[in-house]
Amino acid sequence: MPEPIEITFLGTGSSTPTPQRGHPAILIKYSGDHMLFDCGEGTQIQLQKARVSPMKIKRIFISHWHADHFAGLLPMIETLHLQNRKEPLEIYGPEASRFVDAISELSYWGIGFEIKTKDCGEEDMEKILDTENYEIHSIKVDHSVPSVGYIFKEKDRWNIDTKLAKKYKLSGKDLKIIKEKGIFKGIKLSKVAKLSPGRKLIYSGDTRVSKKLFNAAKNADLLIHDGTFTEPMESRAHSSVKEVAKLSKKYNVKKLVLTHFSRRYKSVKEIEKIAKKIFKNSIVARDMMEMKL
Ligand SMILES: [Zn+2]
Repeated sequence: MPEPIEITFLGTGSSTPTPQRGHPAILIKYSGDHMLFDCGEGTQIQLQKARVSPMKIKRIFISHWHADHFAGLLPMIETLHLQNRKEPLEIYGPEASRFVDAISELSYWGIGFEIKTKDCGEEDMEKILDTENYEIHSIKVDHSVPSVGYIFKEKDRWNIDTKLAKKYKLSGKDLKIIKEKGIFKGIKLSKVAKLSPGRKLIYSGDTRVSKKLFNAAKNADLLIHDGTFTEPMESRAHSSVKEVAKLSKKYNVKKLVLTHFSRRYKSVKEIEKIAKKIFKNSIVARDMMEMKL
């Protein structure tokens, strides 16, 4: 069984937080790494509810610099400083260096650890992180300010069939070589192993429906998407539940989680009904909802 990708929806509201829905923030745990996607006001409290120390957060991906998506950064950085963090913290986002510099200056005592920034969104789609087990790409989306969505892609993996390895008399050392080079003494990797494709998860951030994003989300295991309104609203730089559910079905997304709801909706039951009627694998996010992929 592959290692689970664990997702906690820390905040699922939009511009104004309510007692039920905080500002956007999503925690993803995978392969020993803790990552935050957006860090709105109140993220620290939500992390405490999830029993996750902010010291564990290795990287933060900000979709755009509207306060609902980053207002939690300054207090979190101060907490990390007070807790004597020494590990560097990586922060990604459009114009990340400019905004992080500005935030870092708002402090009497400076910051006792390094913050590494990476600016994203200059290209339509860009690989911004490559680790042993997964990659992260940013994808430009369509909002009122420079904004990106993020694609988390687990690397494809070759699983050795031990029976076949035995048949070809391959030792553990031989298998290591074959996995690295794709061939060993004329035996191709595909003869003794099966390729299992990595899982794909996409977070839209705030955006009008974007064809580019849905192209990238084709066959994705999970799409977390802006669902601010139920009906399309031409004048607003957000998506509607109806459009997103329709496109998720068309692009064969396996599971859709709608988030970032306008506080005009007192109950999300109606939103859920609308979404499920169009695309049955729709889920309406709530604060502290947990999922495993
Ligand atoms: Zn927002």
